[in-house]
Amino acid sequence: MTTTSDAGITPDSGDAAARCDPPTPRNPSTPDASTAGRERDPECLFCRIVAGEIPSTRVGEDDQVVAIRDISPRAPTHVLLLPRRHIRSAAELTGGDGALLGRLFGMAAELARSEGIADGGYRVVTNVGTWGGQTVDHLHFHLMGGRAFSWPPG
Ligand code: 5GP
Ligand code: ZN
Repeated sequence: MTTTSDAGITPDSGDAAARCDPPTPRNPSTPDASTAGRERDPECLFCRIVAGEIPSTRVGEDDQVVAIRDISPRAPTHVLLLPRRHIRSAAELTGGDGALLGRLFGMAAELARSEGIADGGYRVVTNVGTWGGQTVDHLHFHLMGGRAFSWPPG
């Protein structure tokens, strides 16, 4: 029996060329960079915000996570949840990051309640890479609410 992918295309069918090739990642993962992430990147905007070197409006924090208001909100509530540790994107997460993810989603749920968007519903999203719409290469979750969102996203 031949195993196929979800798209019904065998991995060696050559059909990949018929689809769009994804853009070259700005920061391709290397074996060295893909595991635990660095504690801090002095050049990174969100590392500098976490360190308090660049001002932000903090709405929550614990020993692993900092939550700030987005500087250019796309919804009445738009909060960013940042791990204190420099992880470039969700593509670098591993099974060992379960506790951190629990903190990130736990704080998102807490903030959704305190921001008054929990009952109406909200969105938690993370963008990965160029086609995913990621513009800051430090893992962050957007907590957005206060209006209805369409699906699928544009
Ligand atoms: P991404 O595009 O990577 O998914 O999300 C990056 C987010 O960071 C954007 O929504 C953008 O508005 C926000 N952002 C960019 N620079 C700053 C900043 O200096 N301060 C804050 N609070 N948010 C920022
Ligand atoms: Zn960083």
